[in-house]
Amino acid sequence: MLEKVLIANRGEIALRVLRACKELGIKTVAVHSVADADLMHVRLSDESVCIGPPSPTDSYLNIPAIISAMEVTHADAVHPGYGFLSENADFAEQVENSGFIFIGPTADTIRQMGDKVSAIEVMREASVPTVPGSNGPLNDDSKRTLKLAKEIGYPVIIKAAAGGGGRGMRVVHNEKELLSAIKVTQTEAKSFFGSGVVYLEKFLENPRHVEIQVVGDGKGGAIHLGDRDCSLQRRHQKVLEEAPAPGIPKKVREEVAATCVKACEHLKYRGAGTLEFLYQDEQFYFIEMNTRVQVEHPVTEMISGFDIVKEQLRIAGGEPLSVKQKEVTLQGHAFECRINAEDPESFLPSPGKVDLFHAPGGPGVRVDSHLYSGYRVPPYYDSLIAKLISYGDTREQALMRMQIALDELLIDGISSNIPLQRELVRDAGFQKGGVNIHYLEKKLNS
Ligand code: ADP
Repeated sequence: MLEKVLIANRGEIALRVLRACKELGIKTVAVHSVADADLMHVRLSDESVCIGPPSPTDSYLNIPAIISAMEVTHADAVHPGYGFLSENADFAEQVENSGFIFIGPTADTIRQMGDKVSAIEVMREASVPTVPGSNGPLNDDSKRTLKLAKEIGYPVIIKAAAGGGGRGMRVVHNEKELLSAIKVTQTEAKSFFGSGVVYLEKFLENPRHVEIQVVGDGKGGAIHLGDRDCSLQRRHQKVLEEAPAPGIPKKVREEVAATCVKACEHLKYRGAGTLEFLYQDEQFYFIEMNTRVQVEHPVTEMISGFDIVKEQLRIAGGEPLSVKQKEVTLQGHAFECRINAEDPESFLPSPGKVDLFHAPGGPGVRVDSHLYSGYRVPPYYDSLIAKLISYGDTREQALMRMQIALDELLIDGISSNIPLQRELVRDAGFQKGGVNIHYLEKKLNS
């Protein structure tokens, strides 16, 4: 088992990891930027190290500083959380080359999944359903490309193999636009991501975003913990998630989850991961895999009673999976509202001092947040300040509990998106369940 873990992240996820370490009797090292000395998990950790100035490049993305902190504190492993260095294969590699454990998959797996073309290839081989497309990079043969797009049928989408964060994509509606759109996307991809490799797939018009949580032991064993629906998005950013995804036939759901497990067994996948799909007309289409813990992991924990972060730590310590697939029981329903420090109208970040923070409670309510009264939200990082999670035996009960919890939640001093979340949980379309990825933006624009 691990003895001391360095947490290379900040905010709510750093606190989440710290709590899991404490439960397992693992010592903790917090690393933080100059702007983050007052973070809750820094106060609660066994040791802390300041790793640099506020700018993420100088602190949370500063690989040498983080590895030095591991050396001075004699940590044996690093938990990267999400964002920052969590999907950086070079970081994972340098950590392992320095004799430490990276809590996550191998650098090779991260690299393979970070390239969307190779990720799709791996998944196709494992019979995971993918979007009809070029199944590989587009080359200079424009005749072949035009033919391919015609066969797939317009609209199509051109995507950068190295793309991320919703960038490096372009939808093409007809043959006339195709070749020039490819050129532009290639140029953009080259300057954004350092690689001009692009591929093509069918553009699905009204899909939902449904993802499958997996955990692998790194030796060929893997399980899944069901699915989550994250269709409520603004600018490709998830706003409100739930598990399970509502209204999907049992057979379709189970079939896709089983192929995900097979793929992870085949990959000898190590740790927690998520296969993201678009879901339309009762079909799943794989788009990408995230090789880390996700922001929305708590909804899965609520319906499975399974602690994903503790399992990450156990597996990194060389232990086997703590349950077999048939021991996983998914029960009830859960929602997660992301609470961001942002202006409710303009969505612009709203950092500053939190004069008062009051967290809701009661049956089936969980709050993952690093906030406390008097805490100052710094302007340098992501605006996520809290995750409000509700659980119920039924979707209706979980939703009702979320409504009550959102009404109890108080954050004074800064602006937040609580008003939007209160509105969303009362929205008739959302309450019905199964809205697509365009629903929220359409609602906001109407
Ligand atoms: P990123 O890594 O940038 O998040 P993804 O491949 O996950 O890129 O795609 C991001 C979003 O773009 C998806 O959630 C979806 O909204 C849209 N998208 C991607 N591929 C398609 C597609 N084939 N059809 C329709 N929408 C797509």
